[in-house]
Amino acid sequence: ITEERYKQVDDYFNQLFLKEDVIPEKVLEHCKKNNIPAINVAPNQGKLLHMLIRMNAARHVLEIGTLGGYSTVWMGLALPDDGRLVTLDFDESYIRIARESLNMAGLQDKVEIRQGVAAETLEQMVQAKQAPFDFIFIDADKENNPVYLDYALKLSRPGTVIVADNVVRQAKILDDSGKADNIRGLRRFFDDMVDNPRLTVTAFQTLGSKGWDGLAIAIVKQ
Ligand code: SAM
Repeated sequence: ITEERYKQVDDYFNQLFLKEDVIPEKVLEHCKKNNIPAINVAPNQGKLLHMLIRMNAARHVLEIGTLGGYSTVWMGLALPDDGRLVTLDFDESYIRIARESLNMAGLQDKVEIRQGVAAETLEQMVQAKQAPFDFIFIDADKENNPVYLDYALKLSRPGTVIVADNVVRQAKILDDSGKADNIRGLRRFFDDMVDNPRLTVTAFQTLGSKGWDGLAIAIVKQ
């Protein structure tokens, strides 16, 4: 089995199931044209986020890691009229493209992009007694995932769903002697989730157009 075959299966699924999802497709084209690095979620994973939001009837969504706004658009399109999404990134050039993506999708009034170091923005949100989010997507610098988990818990309520991307990294996650900060961050993130009695957690591997990786999903209990 070659990586090329995983991609072909993703292409097949995308042709079957994402035919009508023209807005995210246009947004991804826009990101590519503007040289946004291809570290966005895969199209079928973007649609998974979209569907998880709808399944949970989530109205308030938080995203950590905007990039060009591709996953933001998938999630924003899942929101009801009174839904709101806040997305965090520190990179001005990515944020500029993300704003264009949101305009293309007609989401400019539903989505707020907050520029800054995510941990600092999150602290400001806690201090400002920001109302809890229903759905939180963690997809920024993986070494800070334990920090983002702490803030996610402070900004959640029972029933909040927390999703984290890139938790497998071609099995690098097994390398517990791992020197890389991002792997250490992910291992600590897993341990913190398991140790937290407020969370129900699972994780699974994904194989596809983005190679071999995975997602973790948690629900806040109480
Ligand atoms: N969620 C996006 C998608 O699927 O389209 C991809 C996000 S990309 C993997 C990670 C993003 O996190 C980058 O845009 C990067 O600028 C941002 N980022 C990394 N470290 C950050 C930090 N400490 N504070 C704020 N943003 C950060």
